[in-house]
Amino acid sequence: NDEEASATAAATNVDIGAPTIFDKIIAKEIPSSIVYEDDKVLAFRDISPQAPIHILVIPKSRDGLTQLGRAEQRHEEILGHLLYAAKIVAEKEGIVDGFRVVINSGPTACQSVYHLHLHVLGGRQMKWPPG
Ligand code: IMP
Repeated sequence: NDEEASATAAATNVDIGAPTIFDKIIAKEIPSSIVYEDDKVLAFRDISPQAPIHILVIPKSRDGLTQLGRAEQRHEEILGHLLYAAKIVAEKEGIVDGFRVVINSGPTACQSVYHLHLHVLGGRQMKWPPG
């Protein structure tokens, strides 16, 4: 099933600081549907949406931020910038009155791409607790 498949996928993607697919998206070497961009962050539609609106917000420079669990104090500014960018994205997408922001950190949380990213999800009633 989907749950097992994503757990297996996450378990096979360990955080070794290797380049990820997001580098190619940032370099525009592979296409993505960009929703918002500034000098520090890029927001684009998730290729496998889990809600009518599902956007990823990433730092353009990974700078060691492979996952939230590896964040250091020097990352405080970009972390704040990413969160505020998530709000701008929600506004642009018309979901600012109700949306969810998710960060999966590490294999146990099913992180699959080791370049920190915020998931911005909305456009439907969300449930709690998440899976
Ligand atoms: P994670 O599981 O929290 O690491 O989330 C990684 C997300 O990246 C998943 O939701 C994937 O669907 C998404 N993703 C992977 N490759 C691409 C791509 O090439 N374009 C857009 N989204 C992608």
